[in-house]
Amino acid sequence: MRTLSASEFVWGWMLRYTWTCSCCGRQFDELPIHWSVEAPALYDALSETERRSRATLSTDFCTIGDNAFFIRGQIEIPLLGSSERLTWGVWASLSAASMEQVRNAWNRHDRASEAPFFGWLSSALPLYPDTINLKSNVHLRSQPDMPLVELEPTDHPLAVEQREGITLARAAQIAEALLPRH
Ligand SMILES: [Zn+2]
Repeated sequence: MRTLSASEFVWGWMLRYTWTCSCCGRQFDELPIHWSVEAPALYDALSETERRSRATLSTDFCTIGDNAFFIRGQIEIPLLGSSERLTWGVWASLSAASMEQVRNAWNRHDRASEAPFFGWLSSALPLYPDTINLKSNVHLRSQPDMPLVELEPTDHPLAVEQREGITLARAAQIAEALLPRH
């Protein structure tokens, strides 16, 4: 599975923090800390025709054919020395049974009380070794929060960062790699 290129990331949620880009020397006063992809990697790999004929994509869910189900969620990484978190907006694939349970619970005010659902990470994040099919638990949260995607606590660098947090300098490194035009 190919890794997403920088231009495919949507960013937002700026943190006030001054940093200097090591590639061009430009100084920034704000740091984007929310990065997300619009669709699961499998959906990205489909042709336009295939997307139209056998896939559906909404804000929260994606279905491909009649046996691949995905939910959008967030991996949260504590930012050391800050009360904020860096988030990766990602997709996870769920079993048909889990997806049915999620859809039934989705509009309930107590959906956060559902037990977590097992999911395979379905987004290829840059700056890490392959992230496709990392194991995770998907926790529904109260509206309007997106589900939390909690990676299995392995020694994969993304799982380590999720557990231990990252420095603002590391967050700036991520911004440097993904921010368009600087
Ligand atoms: Zn630069």
